[in-house]
Amino acid sequence: MSRDERSRRTWSGRVLSSAAALVTVVVSTVTVLTIVLVSAAAGGAGSAVLSGLNAVGPAGGAIAEADSPGAESPGAETETTEPLWVITDPYGELDWAAYGQYKANLHTHTTTSDGTMNPHVVVDTYQALGYAVLAITDHDEVTYPWTAFSEMRASSLSSRRMFTVAHRMPKSLEFEDRDPDRMGMVAIQGNELSMHHHMGSYFSDYRGTADLEASLAATAANGGLAMLFHPGRYNRPVEWYVELYRRYDHLFGLEVYNQGDRYPGDRRLWDAILDRTMPERPVWGYSNDDAHDLSHIGLNWNTLILPELSVEAVRRAMERGHSYFVYAPLGPGGPAPPVLEAVTVDDRNATLEVTARGHTQVDWVSSGAVVASGERVALDELEGLGAYIRAELRGAGGTVVGTQPFGLLPSGPAAASLPR
Ligand SMILES: [Zn+2]
Ligand SMILES: [Zn+2]
Repeated sequence: MSRDERSRRTWSGRVLSSAAALVTVVVSTVTVLTIVLVSAAAGGAGSAVLSGLNAVGPAGGAIAEADSPGAESPGAETETTEPLWVITDPYGELDWAAYGQYKANLHTHTTTSDGTMNPHVVVDTYQALGYAVLAITDHDEVTYPWTAFSEMRASSLSSRRMFTVAHRMPKSLEFEDRDPDRMGMVAIQGNELSMHHHMGSYFSDYRGTADLEASLAATAANGGLAMLFHPGRYNRPVEWYVELYRRYDHLFGLEVYNQGDRYPGDRRLWDAILDRTMPERPVWGYSNDDAHDLSHIGLNWNTLILPELSVEAVRRAMERGHSYFVYAPLGPGGPAPPVLEAVTVDDRNATLEVTARGHTQVDWVSSGAVVASGERVALDELEGLGAYIRAELRGAGGTVVGTQPFGLLPSGPAAASLPR
């Protein structure tokens, strides 16, 4: 598939409240034309759908010009080709070849809460490991900006630990400033709201309450984003998560790997949530160190796919799922995990194909089960498909790379044959 074909797909990454809005955003050019025709025939809703589509175009940013109507002439085929699936591609607006891939950890601690490393040492350690993006997420404490570390104080817990477990602590609790620009890094403001189900809060200085929904509402009012952390520590039903994701647009993600893989059931929970929310409401998966000491650093990260390294580009990638998650159980000294180079979606032929290097296996997961293996998958040959499909790549040393979920909406004969 050519770059033009890939870039024609746009995905706003927003929660969509109505079926009409969904249709305008997720479908390919060919399908849009089909649906617009149907809508118009059904009572004049076509123009609303079409204007919705036009409104989506600029969301594609730098690559939106590829959406020009002259890019192809699908009209003749529209009458004869009915796609069996509408595939929502979270990467559809990316230019994999031109964009950069940046290592990001969105969950880590320092001595301003219960970590054992001072903030500047944490930052230096991540930089040395090639990370470009770091969110320090101390418990209910905003360790930001990096240029003011020297004015911050260690937590009372850290002060006590200087006596009780001195061997685990730094020699001093004096902090040094760091300048992310000079380090070639993006520093994300945030913290871990910890008085309820732990939750990462980003682009916000809000420090939380004991009520999760109050914290969510305040984070949103503060212009922040939020991700639920290590759900395996709690015993909440799937529906509890589904409700939250449906109600809070800025709740963009779920941690599916934490501190190595402390809660392996978190991917199963993620799948169960996706089963209920996709394709309308994607929930992006993340892998985070949740580092409290040096031994936790460098086992988990997220590779962000960005047109440039900037706070704005990172935020957009978090909102839209422009990332894949990585688990490297042997840490920085272990073998390098696979690198995802592209996922090519062809919804006319209902195929998805992974291009990667360093992988030994590709599994495709839908409805919580592996439905196929191999780099390329044809949906019409699969059984047991749910409302999404995602790929997991395996590499040397037990490394795992996971894509974000692709939404699946059957249409035509596929819709009739599926129990949905
Ligand atoms: Zn936590
Ligand atoms: Zn934590």
